[in-house]
Amino acid sequence: MNSLRSYDIKYLKGVGPRRAELLRKELGIASGYDLVRHFPTHYLDRSKIYTVRELSDDMPYVQLRGRFVTFNVLGEGAKMRMVGLFTDGTATMEIVWFKRIKAIRESLTTGTEYIVFGKPSSYMGTRQMSHPEIDLPSAITAQQGMRGVYPLTERLRNSGITSRHMSGWIRTLLTSRKAIVDPLPQSVIADNRLMSLGEALAEIHNPTDAQKLSRAKMRLKFDELIYIQVDMLRRSLRRKSISVGHRLTRVGEMFNRFYRECLPFDLTGAQKRVIKEIRADVNTGRQMNRLVQGDVGSGKTLVALMSMLLAVDNGLQACLMAPTEILATQHYETISSMVKPLGIRVALLTGSTGTKARREIHSALTDGSLSILIGTHAVIEDTVEFRNLGFVVIDEQHRFGVAQRARLWTKNEVAPHVLVMTATPIPRTLAMTVYGDLDVSVIDELPPGRKPIETLLRYDEQRAQVYRAVYGQLRLGRQVYIVYPLIEENEKLDLRSLEEGYQIVRDTFREYKVAFVHGRMKPAEKDYQMGLFASHEADILVATTVIEVGVNVPNASVMIIENAERFGLSQLHQLRGRVGRGADQSYCILMSKHQIAKTTRQRLELMTQTSDGFLIAEADMQMRGPGDIEGTMQSGIPFDLHIANLATDGQIIQLARRAAEKLIDEDPNLSSPGNQLFARELAANSEGIRDWSRIS
Ligand code: ADP
Ligand code: MG
Repeated sequence: MNSLRSYDIKYLKGVGPRRAELLRKELGIASGYDLVRHFPTHYLDRSKIYTVRELSDDMPYVQLRGRFVTFNVLGEGAKMRMVGLFTDGTATMEIVWFKRIKAIRESLTTGTEYIVFGKPSSYMGTRQMSHPEIDLPSAITAQQGMRGVYPLTERLRNSGITSRHMSGWIRTLLTSRKAIVDPLPQSVIADNRLMSLGEALAEIHNPTDAQKLSRAKMRLKFDELIYIQVDMLRRSLRRKSISVGHRLTRVGEMFNRFYRECLPFDLTGAQKRVIKEIRADVNTGRQMNRLVQGDVGSGKTLVALMSMLLAVDNGLQACLMAPTEILATQHYETISSMVKPLGIRVALLTGSTGTKARREIHSALTDGSLSILIGTHAVIEDTVEFRNLGFVVIDEQHRFGVAQRARLWTKNEVAPHVLVMTATPIPRTLAMTVYGDLDVSVIDELPPGRKPIETLLRYDEQRAQVYRAVYGQLRLGRQVYIVYPLIEENEKLDLRSLEEGYQIVRDTFREYKVAFVHGRMKPAEKDYQMGLFASHEADILVATTVIEVGVNVPNASVMIIENAERFGLSQLHQLRGRVGRGADQSYCILMSKHQIAKTTRQRLELMTQTSDGFLIAEADMQMRGPGDIEGTMQSGIPFDLHIANLATDGQIIQLARRAAEKLIDEDPNLSSPGNQLFARELAANSEGIRDWSRIS
């Protein structure tokens, strides 16, 4: 593959410098390697010819066979277009061109039979197709089987580049002297009965039949995934071999006394198990990097606190970082009151900590008298120095930038143990890929006695009824969240409907106080409004998803989510976790327009049926792809995926994982002769990729 990597496609026959530049700009295709990895999105059966009469707008690309009757150039300037009247005997339609009109007109004649390939649409009741690919029947019937349809951009299409061009260029490349040497070790190919790389590439671009195509896809997906897995495994090995960690061998006074005297309830089985896993980790002499996943309300904070006490018992300091000031403050309040009987010093450091208090914290950190520091990213500012930081907890990690986490390491000579806590459940196979080099614990059990949140789907015309129910709760002294979507692409409109919503809520619930918060507010104003709600000065909080992470108001028993159809399921689940924190029955009402697509309704209905975060994440991923989940993790996969799909290729991920484990087990440095090519390919894939290995 290396010769393809260094091959500039401008030298390819029919491409040239101008098109090469366009392909680079539009699709990021620069080398021959990039080009052969530009896969068709779907295939067209070349033998299938549709009739004009049977076309409908929801059809994908189709082939027609017929003749042009007339060509007319209409409009002027930017509005200029050419309309060709096309018929195949069953009906007539318009073929429209907006660009390159002159050249196209010269290449076509009326009365000649053509094969036309494009996406049907309609305009004011007239059947249309714009900028189709057009061939003489003789050019088509010579080929058989399936024809790849390549993703192209508007600009590429306008400059005359078609799927056929792509296919032709790729064929030239694959049959040229730049032979494809298969970099996968023979044993891997044999163990997994894989098609060779050369054959897989040929098949995916120009399939012989459906079965071969499916084997080709399998091979190419496997390729993408095994490089990721090998990369993850090697990083994790490297980290384990070089990173020295504090040995927390003593389970001392703090941990034990807390367990016996301060804990107001029993730990759940899952909490116990995860604490055990953490204790095993911090005893190895290596730095721990563990991700704890647990649904909202599963009691992650307690697990974090007990781990921090373990560090304190071993003469080390601990630090907990939360993504927002409110959250940090809440953690501080809970934790300091829980550990009060132990007499250890806990402090809160955020952006709004005053100079004097800050100075005191700094000196208590350096002289070691401060055991636990809780705060926002203020705790990783350069001026903050610890005497002996041994344990770091990062809560709700997806709000923490990767770079911020990396700075933790500069704080001490021996890297502190790192525990990352997230309430975003990640399906197992995705975790295997995205967090492949981390150890993962799962708290899969909620504390006993929780009343499940009742989730209801309601439509706009039922609003009056919903508001009546809200009144009922307010009269009982409960608090209510009302959440609006706010997305960047639609920010202005969303802000307007949020503000309108706020007005309506104020007008409707006149005798109650309404707080209002959104992400575009100044932090001080935001904190003030959130504070009103947290202290129950306000009864209703109208907000955007800024409340998704964190706030803990056990008295809030109702959440209304407006335009629920616009949220991802995992996000709805996160939001919903803000209620149901107290002893009362809680409700989550998903409001939606009545006119929603069936699949959307099904998604929302799933929310009313389950409160299992993993099931929801899994469903979300199946329906929307892994993008959403990944996005919220600010993490990512080390390599770009072109063909493998983390949502649906779980089985291949597992195969690749197993193959990677075997490979690394037998040859950790990939130095045996049979693995040379693979190692080189891995290095080429990793080029320019950040070093993730030290970051949580
Ligand atoms: P999260 O995992 O969402 O961070 P928290 O740690 O905030 O959850 O815990 C949610 C609530 O459950 C807190 O009020 C906490 O005190 C309580 N809690 C935690 N563990 C238990 C337990 N084992 N039994 C009963 N209540 C618990
Ligand atoms: Mg929490």
